Amino acid sequence: MFPGFAQCQAIKNNLFKHTNLQIAFRPTNTTYQQLSQRRTNNNKPSGIYQLKCNTCKISYVGQLGRPITTCYKEHIRYIRQNNPMSAYAMHIPNNRHKFGPAEETLRPLKPCTKGTKMNCWEALYIYIYT
Ligand SMILES: [Zn+2]
Repeated sequence: MFPGFAQCQAIKNNLFKHTNLQIAFRPTNTTYQQLSQRRTNNNKPSGIYQLKCNTCKISYVGQLGRPITTCYKEHIRYIRQNNPMSAYAMHIPNNRHKFGPAEETLRPLKPCTKGTKMNCWEALYIYIYT
């Protein structure tokens, strides 16, 4: 939800009710964006992510400090190597569960850069999601 969302919904419902047009609103001035640090062009920035198991839908919160594709590959490698560094990585082989593609498995919660701030956000999101 963002400021003006309700108005957008109203416009959508009234103006386009009798058409087959699919309207999508893309807010450009959300609180989330205001609170986020400078955005990079990378659409998968470093930050706090939710990792989901494709089998039992259990989720883990973790911080990924490097570009996500790298981290994701790392996670997959952890899983293959049974590396205890990652709780998520342990969950998959321990329960013989499956991991999906990065787009389905990783959900960005908060983009931020590595450091104290990231640790705080991670702690907060772990608190929220567990
Ligand atoms: Zn699972």
